[in-house]
Amino acid sequence: MSLQNFTAVVAQPDGVDWRLRARCRSEGMDVFFPPDGESKPRRIERERAAKDICATCPVIDLCRDHALASKESHGVWGGMSESDRRKSASIGREIRRRSLQLLQRYQQD
Ligand code: SF4
Repeated sequence: MSLQNFTAVVAQPDGVDWRLRARCRSEGMDVFFPPDGESKPRRIERERAAKDICATCPVIDLCRDHALASKESHGVWGGMSESDRRKSASIGREIRRRSLQLLQRYQQD
């Protein structure tokens, strides 16, 4: 899925769809999504360029929240690459697992 065909409209408090304020609207999507067979050095370079654009985007938080909530599996969204989102999800699972362990220990005492 790309930002252009993302169909769930998320309005900001002023009623404007956040996608209309996306910095990437004026950029080529090639920098945000990998071509087939992309080499690792090229991927690193492309993702860095995409993240530089995201860093100046006024809706970066909304975009990141959308990508994490909808488990976007491709591309750079909200300044996070596919790999960044996987790591974030993994850390979140570990935090929930440890929190549950602590809660269970607390309830046993
Ligand atoms: S944070 Fe990046 S991917 Fe998301 S809308 Fe802004 S420029 Fe586009």
